[in-house]
Order: sequence, then C-alpha cells, then structure tokens
Amino acid sequence: MSRRKLIAGNWKMHMGPGEAGPLAQAIKKAVMDVMVADVTVAPPYLSIPEVVAALRHTGIQVAAQNLHWESSGAYTGELSSEMIAAAGCTQVIIGHSERRQYFGETDQTVNKKVHAALRVGLAPILCVGETLAQRESGAEVAVVESQLEGGLAGIHEDDLQRIVLAYEPVWAIGTGKTASSDQAQAMHGAIRSWLRGRYAGGVVSSLRILYGGSVGPANAALLLSQPDIDGALVGGAALKADSFARIVEAAG
Ligand code: PEP
Repeated sequence: MSRRKLIAGNWKMHMGPGEAGPLAQAIKKAVMDVMVADVTVAPPYLSIPEVVAALRHTGIQVAAQNLHWESSGAYTGELSSEMIAAAGCTQVIIGHSERRQYFGETDQTVNKKVHAALRVGLAPILCVGETLAQRESGAEVAVVESQLEGGLAGIHEDDLQRIVLAYEPVWAIGTGKTASSDQAQAMHGAIRSWLRGRYAGGVVSSLRILYGGSVGPANAALLLSQPDIDGALVGGAALKADSFARIVEAAG
C-alpha cells in the first residue's frame, strides 16, 4: 500500500504575527516546485490567520498546535476545535511531548482532544513517544502502546482514517539526536502491528505514521525511505524555508 508522505512543520512558540506571514510566503515559494508530499505548517495560534491567508489555494495545510476539548465555556486562555477550524486550520497537533511534559497533558486529556478535533472535521496529528529512561529500560514499545491505547480510546475505524500518528521519541526532540532509521522503523512497525490487532487491515495500511525528532535535510531521506515511515514532524528545521523544502524534497 503506498501512502502519500506528509511533512509537517511545528513552529512551536516561534514566528509571531508579522514574522509568520513572511515565513509562510517563503515556504510557499520554496516548496511549490517540490510538492512531492503533502505539506502542513503549524504556527502559534495568533499567527494562524496570516498563515492561512498566505497559503490560500496552495494545497499547504495549516494546523494548530493544541486545542481544548470543550466547544466553549469558562476556560481562560484556551481555544476550541470549533474556533480553530473557523480560523482555517484543517489539522491539529495533539499530545506533543512538550505539552505532556510542561502542561500536564495525560492520555485522557489527549483522548478528549482527539475526539474534539474529529467532531469538527479537523485531522488530529496524535503524538506518542518514550523518554530516554524508558528506552534505556527497554520499555519503549510498552510506553508507546499504552499512549496509543489511551489516546485512541473510543475511536472507531471510520475516525481512524482521519488521524495521523507521529512517533517522536522525547530524547530526540530538539536535541540533535535522531533515532536511527532502524530504531524508528522498528517502532513504526510495532505501532502498525498494534493497530492491526484492533482495526481492520485496510484502514491500518492507509494510516500515516510520521517520525519526529531532529529531522533535517541531512537525515530525512534515509528516515523517509523506511517502509513504515510516512512522513516527518519537523521542529527546528521547519523554521527556515530552505531546510523545510529540502525535507519535503527528500520525501519524493
Ligand atoms: C517537534 O517539534 O515535534 C520536533 C520533532 O522538533 P525537532 O525537529 O526540533 O526535534
């Protein structure tokens, strides 16, 4: 089964209003000739409108980096999936390890967010991944399976089709350390076989599993050539149009 690759750039807390539009324009210019993969950018909330405007009619999707599971209410500082969709996003990153680590996200809140995204037709990019201590103790597959179990609770086959998974070992994010292509492929294979135990084969075969963790132009091609690596979630290297475009190119 051939899956079209997806390269998603997570801008984290970089590129505020005034900076995000020019980066989106530069990405548009750099990427339009090498659109051999689906492309997404995830700016900070406040910059979403200018990025949506810059990328209109390009096919490049805009994602939010988080959401709240309620539609509205007394949740100071939060945004609902309805608001994010109304702003022009089509996807949303959920359960990024930085949110789990610094903002107390649990598999239960992650699961509520996955349901909230699907409620309005936003495609969740659901992140999972183990810490270094968990890998060193040999628990990495069990940790990731338990995050999948929690994050996908109550998700049926029809909904799974709309989800993208991202395996991001915590020890590889923003550290310059990348999982080897063998380590990444082994985990992606384990994720797909866990899914096969719970969902129909066709849905699982078409589901995309991205790798994230210090992906850059130098290592992208090898990672993306692995049979179960269907794209990349890119942090640091997504903040420069040129390096981001070279990663997109490597997906071809
Ligand atoms: C990320 O933000 O999801 C990420 C993988 O960051 P980096 O590419 O900088 O490691």
